[in-house]
Amino acid sequence: MPRSCAPIDSVRAPLYTGRMSDSVLTHLECAACGHVHDPDRLWNLCEVCGKPLLARYDLEKAAQTMTKTALAQRPFGLWRYAEVLPVRAANARIHLGEGGTPLIAAADLGELIGCPATLIKDESLNPTGSFKARGLGVAVSRTYELGATELAIPSAGNAAGAMSAYAAAAGLPAHVFMPADVPMTFRVECQTLGAEVTLVDGLITDCGVRVREGVRDYGWFDLSTLKEPYRIEGKKTMGYELAEQLGWTLPDVIIYPTGGGTGLIGMWKAFAEMEAMGLIGSTRPRMVSVQSEGCAPIVRAFQQGWSEAEAWADAHTVADGLRVPAAVGDFLILDALRQSQGIAIAVADSDMLECAEIMAAHTGIFPAPEGAACLAAQMRLLENGWIRPDETVVLFNTGTGLKYAHLWAT
Ligand SMILES: *Cc1c(COP(=O)(O)O)cnc(C)c1O
Repeated sequence: MPRSCAPIDSVRAPLYTGRMSDSVLTHLECAACGHVHDPDRLWNLCEVCGKPLLARYDLEKAAQTMTKTALAQRPFGLWRYAEVLPVRAANARIHLGEGGTPLIAAADLGELIGCPATLIKDESLNPTGSFKARGLGVAVSRTYELGATELAIPSAGNAAGAMSAYAAAAGLPAHVFMPADVPMTFRVECQTLGAEVTLVDGLITDCGVRVREGVRDYGWFDLSTLKEPYRIEGKKTMGYELAEQLGWTLPDVIIYPTGGGTGLIGMWKAFAEMEAMGLIGSTRPRMVSVQSEGCAPIVRAFQQGWSEAEAWADAHTVADGLRVPAAVGDFLILDALRQSQGIAIAVADSDMLECAEIMAAHTGIFPAPEGAACLAAQMRLLENGWIRPDETVVLFNTGTGLKYAHLWAT
């Protein structure tokens, strides 16, 4: 059993007395070629074509227990969706308080910018201060369950902290490779959580190379974005929560700060699963990807009509979560944007910093620059009429501004 995994249900949800249901995971399927993989052993990418794998479930079976009434009785956190998560054993589910974040009606901010129904899904309340806790909480739980003995990740920010936290909870050794110029808070967080941190003179891609060496030489499990099928499953719970918090409806527009795109792909997958289970209808929000002007491979590919993104040269932005020059799941992000009649938009780093101050002062949320980028995008899209003032818009504040306090320090 991982070192810390037991939820104290009586504290978190006095009403909840039942046992969490079992996963109805059936197989892993390649998102590109459809090749089917055994769900009960560890996988990274598709063994045939090297593209990302997606978890598939018996949704008919899930629908029998994951009803709206049953869900309402469960503790408000990510594991309430256990049927459609890949972890099978209840005692492998690590609980640090992941998920169950508030959806805040930002009425004052909404009035200010001319879009009263502006809502903020505040992911900064997750363990380690970002929504990376959803992805890595599920991924570490599942890889632990499947027998991984050492974990590794290349990361310039929040993913490394979240991996370190869940590895510590599981009692698994963790190896983190970060670019040497990573802000001090991110490095110290991992070190304090007991991970072995290596600072690499180079880019995130160079860190990825070091992880692959460790995989080859020491049998580490690589938890890079979308290079394994479990993180996306944790991130998709944002889609379930959003629907539940809106009374099983979805907003008109979702604005999402996109790096590797796990959350966007995950939510899009969640909407399809929920429809198949009869929890929602076929209406979908228009999905908006926000990136930084200093690293906007998805925006460029979207505007050019490409089905895959070309790597962005010389990527730079203060929003560490958005500094992803080449996303493994690019084709899935672009698919979701187009199917949803959505759009991709780049904003300047200076706008993110300014919008963080506006959001903070008008809502009480101190956002990460990535979260503030959503507000910058929303203001631009209101200005050019792509978003109408009467629409319901959900912004994702994906992390806390505290870890980036140096950006505003004067
Ligand atoms: C990682 C990260 C992102 C990007 O998330 P993806 O799902 O990989 O696109 C956005 N914001 C923050 C704060 C992050 O840490």
